[in-house]
Amino acid sequence: MKARAILHIDMDAFFAAIEQLRRPELRGKPVVVGGDGNPRSRAVVSTASYEARVFGIRSAMPMREALRLCPQAIFLPVDFAAYEAVSARLMALLREITPLVQPVSLDEAFLDATECAAAAEEIARTLKARIRGDLGLTASVGVAPNKLLAKIASDMHKPDGLTIITAERAAEMLAPLPVSRLWGVGPKAEARLREIGITTIGDLARVPEERLVETFGGAWGRMLAEHARGIDDSPVETHREPKSMSRETTFERDIQDQETLRGVLREMSDDLAGWLRESGYGARTVTVKVRFGDFTTVTRSLTMPEAVDDAPAIFEIAGRLMARVEWSEAAWVSAVERSTLHKSGTSPGAASVTAAERRTLHRSGTSLEAESVSAVERQALHQRGTSPGAEPASAATRNTLQGVARASEAESVIAVERHASHRGRTRRVRLVGLRVAGLIASGTAPSRPGGPAGAGNRPEQTSLFPTSSPADEP
Ligand SMILES: [Mg+2]
Repeated sequence: MKARAILHIDMDAFFAAIEQLRRPELRGKPVVVGGDGNPRSRAVVSTASYEARVFGIRSAMPMREALRLCPQAIFLPVDFAAYEAVSARLMALLREITPLVQPVSLDEAFLDATECAAAAEEIARTLKARIRGDLGLTASVGVAPNKLLAKIASDMHKPDGLTIITAERAAEMLAPLPVSRLWGVGPKAEARLREIGITTIGDLARVPEERLVETFGGAWGRMLAEHARGIDDSPVETHREPKSMSRETTFERDIQDQETLRGVLREMSDDLAGWLRESGYGARTVTVKVRFGDFTTVTRSLTMPEAVDDAPAIFEIAGRLMARVEWSEAAWVSAVERSTLHKSGTSPGAASVTAAERRTLHRSGTSLEAESVSAVERQALHQRGTSPGAEPASAATRNTLQGVARASEAESVIAVERHASHRGRTRRVRLVGLRVAGLIASGTAPSRPGGPAGAGNRPEQTSLFPTSSPADEP
């Protein structure tokens, strides 16, 4: 899966900066915007200029306290109409980059630059220059692989900052920050965390997850554990035509039980089919996502020539995609090794891959027989360009191969390898997700009850997941 590139744009002292822009005599002076501008009223501070912040004035502070802290400050009424006009120009500017913009407030927005041609950092620099040139204001921008990290990043070097948090450096950059920087950690949660000795995000990431679940309950405890590790899958949401719709479930505790997974997948298939029909769409792409107990995440995706909008078809495709996930420890380790070899520039030729795999299989205790069968099959597969029907393949492998042949991404090696290392331990699952995309208005492509494979040429399915007993597919 392509890593996402998310930007969080946050204007610096927005209301006060606009006042200083239109009244040059206020520049360089402590300006406090709030209520009707009367510092003796009950109103609170909306925005303080950076010159006023030096005196300890903050947003949401009573105006009277601001007056006490800095009697010489200039107090001004909130002029929403003026700020909204500037905000509209800001959002228009962002939408010139991509339509995938989610305004959060008048002066804050997320932008999804994943599909943009330019690098995210380049886009951030361009944006900051345009905001300065066109609006006469400064913004702080965070760039990261998700919204959670992008928002934390934009806050790290204010004002006029540009901060990049990469997936590799996320843990290190989050560790020293107070837990209150995480979404959903308000003063109450902060106090409860402090009671159990947690003040920084690094502390939080080190706490056993069971402890967080005990303290905060299943859903919230597990979300905290993910956020502490910089994990956040929430999409940038626009009010435009939907591009995709998804459902996901984080289990109360990690599971291995196939029936539970199947049940959840079926529910999500029903749910998404209902949504598709209500919205009048069919979906050409189905994606499953699995997050394991060690927080690693894999997705498997299939794009079909025709759209589907019915639950059985979506469920069937989801099942096939699930069969392409590395469920056993051995297959997973091997896949990671192969990708390491690939990245390190080692020739992806069969010899080096096989050597790495042989070691892995050996370590995992998989029999030599399975290993050599796997090698032969892989070879056959290679020559055939993933077409089904390779002679040495077992029935189960043939099924897998048929599924792979229809898939948009060729992952034949992984499929065969999984078969070979069938005996490895099964990984535990913390989250499962299902997404439909490639939406087209229904009516243009009627769905077929048998799914993309059609009822006639559907391979005999053994099971959704290679760990279960065979022949229980509905
Ligand atoms: Mg702001």
